[in-house]
Formats: sequence, C-alpha cells, structure tokens
Amino acid sequence: MHIDIDKDLCIGAGQCALAAPAVFTQDDDGYSTLLPGRADGGADPMAREAARACPVAAITVSGTAG
Ligand code: SF4
Repeated sequence: MHIDIDKDLCIGAGQCALAAPAVFTQDDDGYSTLLPGRADGGADPMAREAARACPVAAITVSGTAG
C-alpha cells in the first residue's frame, strides 16, 4: 500500500486524521500529513476509509492492503 496526499487539494478538513489517526495527522497549518513511517499506510485498512472521507479527494491509496 502506498499513500499520497495532494497538498494542493487539501483544505485541512481533518477528516483523514479522524478516520485513520494511526496514519494521518495534521501539520501546524492544519493540513494533512502522514505520521512518520506511514507512507505505506501501516497496513491500516482505515487508510482507505480516510481517502473516502476526504471531501476533496486529496488522498490516493494505491496497491493492496498490507
Ligand atoms: S480529509 Fe482531505 S482535505 Fe481534510 S485534511 Fe485530510 S487530506 Fe486534507
């Protein structure tokens, strides 16, 4: 699994950090960022939920779980 956040699209809604707090957090400006070492999603199925929850579809999850 690989996770990309398009920071040009992100509006800082925070839905991703709510949906998958083990993968996403928010930076000092409120925009989404990945927790250290979590670019692979940490095999967290909630990463896909976070991508769905994002109101501007800024999150791309590619590859299979795990
Ligand atoms: S849910 Fe989308 S818009 Fe909101 S912080 Fe996460 S990536 Fe950004």
